[in-house]
Amino acid sequence: MTAPLRLRLDTAALQDNWRALARISGPAACGAAVKANGYGLGATVVASHLAAAGCRDFFVATWAEAERLAGLGLPNLSVLHGVRDADMDLARSAMARPVLSTPAQVARWRDAGGGACDVMVDTGMNRLGVAPQDVHDGLLDGLRIETLMSHLACADEDHPMNARQRDRFASLAGATGARRMSLANSAGIALGSGYHFDLVRPGIALYGGVPRDELAGVIRQVAYPEAQILQRRTVRAGETVGYNATWTATRDTEVAILNLGYADGYRRAFSDRGSGEGGALPVIGRVSMDLVAIDVTARPALAEGDWVTLDYALPAAAMRSGVSQYELLTGLGTRFANQG
Ligand SMILES: *Cc1c(COP(=O)(O)O)cnc(C)c1O
Repeated sequence: MTAPLRLRLDTAALQDNWRALARISGPAACGAAVKANGYGLGATVVASHLAAAGCRDFFVATWAEAERLAGLGLPNLSVLHGVRDADMDLARSAMARPVLSTPAQVARWRDAGGGACDVMVDTGMNRLGVAPQDVHDGLLDGLRIETLMSHLACADEDHPMNARQRDRFASLAGATGARRMSLANSAGIALGSGYHFDLVRPGIALYGGVPRDELAGVIRQVAYPEAQILQRRTVRAGETVGYNATWTATRDTEVAILNLGYADGYRRAFSDRGSGEGGALPVIGRVSMDLVAIDVTARPALAEGDWVTLDYALPAAAMRSGVSQYELLTGLGTRFANQG
């Protein structure tokens, strides 16, 4: 039984995006953030295709996410949220490396025998990470650190914080036995070679997000939501469509109702603003939980049962909706029949 909505994935574009980011990153290795179920697109599918393209370093948020990828045999898998006591059994199985980010996690890992790990240092974002001063004071001594990392707070803007974080991070070179250093997310890659260090960690740009203009024209759309027409009707001039009757027909209008709504991540912010088929089919009225109405006057042949592709190029869709590119992707629901 196929669902009446599907997420078409352009896996060639996904791989090309990774190759483009790897090229821009020069000698630095290019990894992939596949947390949040591969940014909503399916972590297993995404990680398999990226591994086939040559990616060797993968990042998830939690051990539950790592477990779901365990069968792929990825060469390097890191868990960004570190290890709680409750994670230690999984962590000891060595299916992935924890990214230790607090002194308590460092102690827990060391007490458990301290296998290979990664460490997150906070260089100014004040989110996760140990303090640079603690590193200089020997907090990490004796740990087997694969990757020392930090995370940029403002890489998608030109902000003085970027260079400040880069310099703080660079000052840690040689302060630990870490084999590699890693700072840049997608936007950080576009900040230039001074931000690349040994390993970059793009997420959003792999999936078609364009966090900085330098990446426009380089990054291709990957995810295409498609929905089936459940009903086609003629709405007479003066009649309204949808909840709260916010849209009124100014002329007789051909309307199709699609099997897609905000419960699938097609946000209510697309009410009267979204479209399908490259703008030819405007969304009219409110987006409902499971349904959306589009004006199909421009496509007389479209009928009940046909499929329509919603316009979901992330930079444009974010502008239209006022919803971030990240939320537009990761908010996609679970009712799509994923197309690999
Ligand atoms: C999510 C995440 C990334 C990827 O960020 P993008 O902005 O999606 O490229 C990289 N590093 C860390 C620590 C992250 O949490």
